[in-house]
Parts: sequence; structure tokens; C-alpha cells
Amino acid sequence: MFDIVISGAGPAGSKSAEILAKKGFEVALIERDTNWRKPCGGGVSSRIFKYFPQLRKANPHKIESISMYSGDYSNLKYSWKGSRDYSINMDRLELDNIIRNSAIDAGAHLFDNNLSYDFIWKNQKPIGIKTKTPSETKEYLGNILIIADGMSSKLAIKSGLRKKWKIEELGLAKCAIIEGDFSVENNCIHVFFRPYKGYGWIFPLGENRFNIGCGTFQEDNRNYNLNNIYHEFFNDPFIKDLLSTTTYKTIWSASYPLPALGVKKKSLYSDNMMLIGDNAGFVSPISGEGIHPSIVSGQAAAGAAIQALEEENISKEALKQYKLNPNVRKIIRNFKLKTSMVEFFYEQKGRNLSNMFRLANQNDKYREIVVDMFLFNAVPSKEFFSEIRKLK
Ligand SMILES: Cc1cc2nc3c(=O)[nH]c(=O)nc-3n(C[C@H](O)[C@H](O)[C@H](O)COP(=O)(O)OP(=O)(O)OC[C@H]3O[C@@H](n4cnc5c(N)ncnc54)[C@H](O)[C@@H]3O)c2cc1C
Repeated sequence: MFDIVISGAGPAGSKSAEILAKKGFEVALIERDTNWRKPCGGGVSSRIFKYFPQLRKANPHKIESISMYSGDYSNLKYSWKGSRDYSINMDRLELDNIIRNSAIDAGAHLFDNNLSYDFIWKNQKPIGIKTKTPSETKEYLGNILIIADGMSSKLAIKSGLRKKWKIEELGLAKCAIIEGDFSVENNCIHVFFRPYKGYGWIFPLGENRFNIGCGTFQEDNRNYNLNNIYHEFFNDPFIKDLLSTTTYKTIWSASYPLPALGVKKKSLYSDNMMLIGDNAGFVSPISGEGIHPSIVSGQAAAGAAIQALEEENISKEALKQYKLNPNVRKIIRNFKLKTSMVEFFYEQKGRNLSNMFRLANQNDKYREIVVDMFLFNAVPSKEFFSEIRKLK
């Protein structure tokens, strides 16, 4: 019997576990496999240090600029070298371990090799989680259950809080970690918006290592084959030229879905249960950035759980505090606006984006607007969008 049972020890679940354990609660953190490398670009902005200052000591690969390309390879580069904190790129195996270890250090009980597959119900309320280990089935009872087991979550559907993902609600991406000699700028991330709804990336991980990937989203998941577009992206002469690598080795590769339409705000909580992270849609539409928003959702859910347990009221009404958390509300609002910008970005095979980058390269005022939009989540005015549309 635990105060809180959390299914999934990724960034979202581990952050919740850390906060709750620090407060003195008994936390069970259930994880399918701590050796699983979450398919991911591993790019994280400097905001991560606010939540995990100890990451600096791990000496992560520093990123100090971004180079963005539209479908026809119009380019906009922005550097923050010397002017603000650095972003980082990390191998997810390493990042997730550091984040998970802070939960364990705080006192959370990690149960590895446990696959959550169902709830234990009492009076139509979930009071625990059933798992399978390689040798047996187990039951973890808790006052509050936090479901943080990502996109493949069976519990989210069994909870009744949300339905199975529809293909149009998703992004589908394939990525790889490659080792070899390459000449792409080492402290710069490269993002390639495609002429269809999708993007590719090259994220350096060190001197001779990088993460490369690409994917589609929404209806273009149906129109494009993921393996084909990955192959085309990797072998595109522009990309080959940028990497100028002759010998390389793929040390890992995988494909995985991500939410593409923002937070599922009607699916966040019910009596003694909350959904957090990818599972609840905490991934930024367009950019696919989900590590930071998932951590924010984990923190907010932990806050709501603490208040509910202290006040001995774990009802749906009490857990509403999770959704009302100002940071969660900000994310919901921001993702909604971003979703509404998708059509503009990809109209006419990405022509608006090419025009936007060209204009930003010519005019400092526009440059500021575009940089603020991509890097600082600002949403430009309607006038800005209509000016871009008017350009030939
Ligand atoms: C290809 C790709 C590239 C991406 N690139 C970036 C990027 O560069 N930057 C960025 O910020 N975001 C990126 N994202 C999004 C980011 O990976 C996610 O938003 C983030 O990992 C969400 O964290 P989470 O804790 O919610 O879920 P996850 O990281 O998926 O963690 C879920 C955890 O639950 C465990 N689990 C799953 N099922 C069970 C079960 N049944 N029982 C027990 N445990 C279970 C898993 O093993 C895992 O540890 C990318 C996503 C994809 C698919």
C-alpha cells in the first residue's frame, strides 16, 4: 500500500515521484524497463536546469544555436552563444536515468521490469495497478494513481479518461544515433521543415555522434511511409552535403508516435487518478518538444496530489487543481495556438515558412518575431501572418 502509485518512470513520472517522495509520501514508481531508450531527438532547452540543476554536472552536450530550414531549404539561423544559458542534447538513456535517480534519491521506490496492464477497482474507483514481471503478477495499491507511461499506455484507455489515439492526432517519427566523422556544426541543432506536414532534425550529441530523425504528423501520417521518408531525408543531397560524412555507423534506431494536437484537457484527471506527460498530450505541436512540458505536467500533478492527500480529499473535484495549475494552463493555451498555426506553416508545400525565413533574414523586426515564435513560444499577430501570405 502506497500513498501514490505512478506507472511509468520517464521524465513526467519521475518528476512527480521525486516531488512527492521529497514531501515524505510513500511512492511506488513502476517501470517496464529502465534500459529502454525512449525514441527521441534528446534536444532540451535550458529550462530543464530549473527542474534538474544536477544535469549540469553530467556535462551534457551544449547547444548554442539553431539552424532552421523550410521545405525548399530557405534557412534562418539564430545563435544565443554568450547571451543566455545553453540548451542541451542528450542520449535519452542517460537523461532518463539522471531524472529517475533523483526520484530514487528522494525516497521513491522504483519497481523495474514491471509492466502495468490493468487497474484494481473498488466501488468503480481505481485503487491500484496490476503489473506483470518476468516471473509473476503484482498489485500496487495507492490512494492516488498517476499514469505516466507514455504513448503506448493501456491504462489511459482502461481508465476511461481518453480513447485510443486516432492516427490524425499523432506524429510518427523515426530516429537514429549515428557515430562517425561528420562536419555539421557541433553546437548547433538543425531542424528541417518538410514540404509536407513533418520535419527532420540533426542534433549533435558530441564530437562524432549525432541524433538524426524525421517524421510526419496529422493526415500526412497516412500519405507518407515513415521508412521511406526517413531514407529520403538521410540520403537527400542537401543533408549528405551538410553532414559530409563518408563512414558512419548506426548504433541505435527506432520509430515511435507522439501526440500532435496538444493537451487532452478533458482527459487529465478523475477520482484519485491523473494522466501526465505524453499520455495526456503534453508535446508541443509543430516542434515536437515534449520533455520539458511533460516534466511541467509531472510537477503540477504532484502539487495537486500533495494538496489532495493533505486535505484527505482525493476526489475528482480536488484533483482539478492539476488542470488549474498556472503552468499547465499556459501550456494548454500555447499548444492550442500552435495547433492553429499548423495549416499556415505547411500551406503550399511550406511556402509561407520559406517567405518568413527570407523576410527575417532581410529585416530585424521580422527576425525578432520569427525567433520569438520558434524559441520563446510567442505567438505573432494576425497581421504578421497575413503579410507573409501576401508575399510571392
Ligand atoms: C522520435 C521522437 C523524437 C522526439 N524528440 C524530442 C526532442 O528532441 N525533444 C523533446 O523535448 N521531446 C522530444 N520528443 C517527445 C519526448 O520524447 C516525449 O514528450 C517525452 O519523452 C515524454 O515523457 P513522458 O515521461 O511523458 O513519457 P516517456 O518518456 O515515453 O516515458 C514513459 C515511461 O513509461 C514506461 N512505460 C511504458 N509503458 C509502461 C507500462 N505498461 N508499464 C510500466 N512502464 C511503462 C516507459 O518505459 C517509459 O520509461 C520526441 C518524441 C519522439 C517520438
